[in-house]
Amino acid sequence: MPMTLNRVSVPVIVDEEKCIAEKGCTVCVDVCPLDLLAINLLNGKAYMKYDECWYCMPCEADCPTGAVHVSIPYLLR
Ligand code: SF4
Ligand code: SF4
Repeated sequence: MPMTLNRVSVPVIVDEEKCIAEKGCTVCVDVCPLDLLAINLLNGKAYMKYDECWYCMPCEADCPTGAVHVSIPYLLR
């Protein structure tokens, strides 16, 4: 899977102001069926580690703070 470390934009963006992963939340990481999300150990926030999104949306729907935004490509809407 392509890593996203040097990507400027990925389909799943986490608002680091809202993310509470440093307090133990891993909901988005746990619900992603493809294991695309991870916690960045440097800043304690969730991020998209692998850019292979299915746009199935539970990461956005289940985040308790509304920190996850999935940008669905125009052709899939
Ligand atoms: S579910 Fe939301 S608050 Fe929890 S780790 Fe993911 S982005 Fe952060
Ligand atoms: S939309 Fe689905 S596949 Fe994409 S990151 Fe969220 S849970 Fe994973």
